[in-house]
Amino acid sequence: MNLDPYLLEILACPACKSPLKVDDPAAELVCTNPTCGLAYPVRDDIPVLLVDEARRPDGDDDQAGDGETAGDGGGSAGTARAADSTGVREPEVS
Ligand SMILES: [Zn+2]
Repeated sequence: MNLDPYLLEILACPACKSPLKVDDPAAELVCTNPTCGLAYPVRDDIPVLLVDEARRPDGDDDQAGDGETAGDGGGSAGTARAADSTGVREPEVS
């Protein structure tokens, strides 16, 4: 990624106003404040300084939790079924 150093200098974490440092391999701008530590994505060399878009240092999976799928109380009735269909076939040898 190719960020203007001057740009980087004027950028600050929108959450805590701390300076940001470049994490090149991850293509992220990481807040230098250890208690904040948000990592902002850089898309097409444009830093996305939105707290909503930022990755938190811990609890990565949090942002997938928009769950509105509460009504899917799927049954566990499928477990008893496997037993009686195991191909127990009486041999027809008489
Ligand atoms: Zn911060």
